[in-house]
Amino acid sequence: MDTQMEKEYMKGGEFLIADTTEIFTPEDFTEEQRMIGETTREFVDNEIQPQLPALEKHAWEIARELVKKGGDLGLLGATIPEEYGGLGLDQTTGVVIAEYIGRAGGFGTTFGAQTSIGLLPILYFGSEELKKYWIPKIISGETITAYCLTEAGSGSDALGAKTVARLTEDGQHYVLNGEKMFISNGSFADVYIVFAKVDGEKEKFSAFVVERSDNCRPGSEEHKMGIKSSSTTPLILSDAKIPATNLIGNVGDGAKIAFNILNVGRFKLGASVTGGAKLALAEALKYANERQQFGKSISSFGAIKHKLAEMAIRTWVAESITYRTVGMIDALIGDGADNTKKLQSIEEYAVESSINKVACSEALDYVVDEMVQIYGGYGYSADYPAEKAYRDSRINRIFEGTNEINRLLIPGQMMKRAMKGKLGIIPAAKALQDEILNPQM
Ligand SMILES: Cc1cc2nc3c(=O)[nH]c(=O)nc-3n(C[C@H](O)[C@H](O)[C@H](O)COP(=O)(O)OP(=O)(O)OC[C@H]3O[C@@H](n4cnc5c(N)ncnc54)[C@H](O)[C@@H]3O)c2cc1C
Repeated sequence: MDTQMEKEYMKGGEFLIADTTEIFTPEDFTEEQRMIGETTREFVDNEIQPQLPALEKHAWEIARELVKKGGDLGLLGATIPEEYGGLGLDQTTGVVIAEYIGRAGGFGTTFGAQTSIGLLPILYFGSEELKKYWIPKIISGETITAYCLTEAGSGSDALGAKTVARLTEDGQHYVLNGEKMFISNGSFADVYIVFAKVDGEKEKFSAFVVERSDNCRPGSEEHKMGIKSSSTTPLILSDAKIPATNLIGNVGDGAKIAFNILNVGRFKLGASVTGGAKLALAEALKYANERQQFGKSISSFGAIKHKLAEMAIRTWVAESITYRTVGMIDALIGDGADNTKKLQSIEEYAVESSINKVACSEALDYVVDEMVQIYGGYGYSADYPAEKAYRDSRINRIFEGTNEINRLLIPGQMMKRAMKGKLGIIPAAKALQDEILNPQM
């Protein structure tokens, strides 16, 4: 893979020093990607948005129905191989779907947990038996899934988890005990991807598929600032007994699984907040044109034009880095790649995925803040869209690794790659040093 990449592809993090030849943009979408984008937009605008008030009141049976409809439209399994019932499409198509789902408020979190963090650990690391059993049910929307890493005492420090799994004496089952925190889809999920330490040992941190039961049950719904249309609960594991075959990968693979899956979550989150920013900008623009003060539309005032311009600038940057990144991922994956190559290609651009997560979530926060300001007092009223957009945006700087943690990962990963010789930074720095020391050259 390295040889092929050296010949044809820009490596992860190499945008710092390499000359770019090709950049993927939305103008490069295929007809099929455009159509799937349009289908997603119609699904969100016609079916999800009208249900958001009911979802905000926790009508989870409606959330289940909407997930099922997403499955019927093929949106849950777009990037999943055909052998497990998916459409086998590229990552770009998944990102197009994520962008339009970003218009769906808190339901975007439900959708993300179902299609990304709650599904991909099985796809990329599970046994063939687990994949064949669970993936078709999850991507049809028949089964709702959730990803359970965080605990009350361990958030950013995910490996500090205290949940324990013990193998029974006959080696046939694991028994899990512990409590997870802030689990998206928690209250109505049927199955949970749970991270736990076998025998409580740090190096045996592992992932398991655990079905809902009296011994694996959600706690009460969190009272949240925003994304109220998504469910967030603790998960209580009290002697939850599962078949030993529900271990995902091997004992000790937990960190690898958790962090690789978060990479996918990060570039997808960048896409969905970009979709949210586009919607917020469009609504703010419409309002600014309609709202009259001093006998004119407020959009004619310089201060408001400046806000709209700054909102557009950040949205454009978010869109550009989103599609540039997924374009690089798909170029590296190429045709006919297996799951291992797909995962390696996503991991290659871990730095870019972290950058996207930070830049796009902060772009959305800026955009919705100015949206509230453009709406004036009506921006503060729950009867207008700005108030919900403002509250919903804030979580994106916190989950999928806080922006502080992602800001630590970006230079950390860059340095690691440079030291391993995977980035041409050291030769480039040496060439620069030679040039400075020998100005006549
Ligand atoms: C609505 C919602 C949905 C969620 N969904 C899920 C889910 O589905 N599954 C799941 O497993 N989790 C989920 N989470 C949990 C989320 O991922 C964590 O809240 C997040 O990782 C932060 O952990 P924490 O809340 O414990 O904060 P802490 O880790 O305690 O961090 C507190 C503050 O300290 C900062 N900080 C921590 N360590 C460092 C450091 N080394 N350097 C600099 N700053 C640092 C953080 O950036 C943050 O600002 C969800 C959370 C919410 C609120």
